Amino acid sequence: MDKKVIMIMVDGFGVPEKGWSNSIYSDLCDSRFVKLLADFSIPVSAKLDVDGIPQSATGQTALFTGFNAAKIMGMHMQGFPGPKLRELICSRNLFSNLMEKGKTVAFANAYVQYTLEELAIMRLKSVTTTMVESSIGWVRNMEDLISGKAVYHDLTRKTIKNSMLVQEISPKQAAIDLLNISKDNDFTLFEYFLTDRAGHKMDVDALKEILGNLSTFVCELVDSAAENTMIILTGDHGNCEDISTRKHTTNPVPLFVYGHPLPCNRKITSIEDIYYFILDDIFKSPKLNTGAV
Ligand SMILES: [Zn+2]
Repeated sequence: MDKKVIMIMVDGFGVPEKGWSNSIYSDLCDSRFVKLLADFSIPVSAKLDVDGIPQSATGQTALFTGFNAAKIMGMHMQGFPGPKLRELICSRNLFSNLMEKGKTVAFANAYVQYTLEELAIMRLKSVTTTMVESSIGWVRNMEDLISGKAVYHDLTRKTIKNSMLVQEISPKQAAIDLLNISKDNDFTLFEYFLTDRAGHKMDVDALKEILGNLSTFVCELVDSAAENTMIILTGDHGNCEDISTRKHTTNPVPLFVYGHPLPCNRKITSIEDIYYFILDDIFKSPKLNTGAV
């Protein structure tokens, strides 16, 4: 059976300073999710050897291209990537490199409000949007979402406004939808960024729902994944693990790997190493193990 890989990129999701079991995650998440993170993740630095607080544009570029984007730019850069970062992303990324290897790839997020063209005109192209546009060339839309062939960024579709077409679903159903999408693709990416938004607002009530949904979603992915499917979860930088500050943190991010041997800490120390782990380790290794190894 062909290997299937699902990657979840959680924005603003760091490793808590005092450990998983004594953290906002243990307070607000499904306890199984916290145990999964403790058992199947290693901490990876998001600092990129550059002073200052890690940010999304350079962090995500590093994750998806393997370039130390902050070093190249001379600083951490926030928000959406500018021309130079976009050039880096278009020159190589996980999607285009996997496609070159003959693998099929998918970006599962649904774009329901704007098309790729509209986002380009408004200069609202995120790292993942830039990557998808330059490799796959299309994004999943409302029609895909309704037919279960896309996942909305809030998982439950609760925040879709002014739509009579869409009904709210459970985070578990969102996980089933993502697993179904992954059956048709070798590598499937999903991006979850509400964690970062709530972290900036220091909003515990919002985080309770956001982390609660995420933890239910990930537990369902792990429970229902076929034997040939592995789950990777990581972040671009810390934020929501410390809501004593509105800012991102300098904490490491977890690299959670389920269904494949965890890489040793020495091999993966910085977030740009995750790109090589996926390309050179996961998609080269002949055998896929499930569960604890
Ligand atoms: Zn942020």
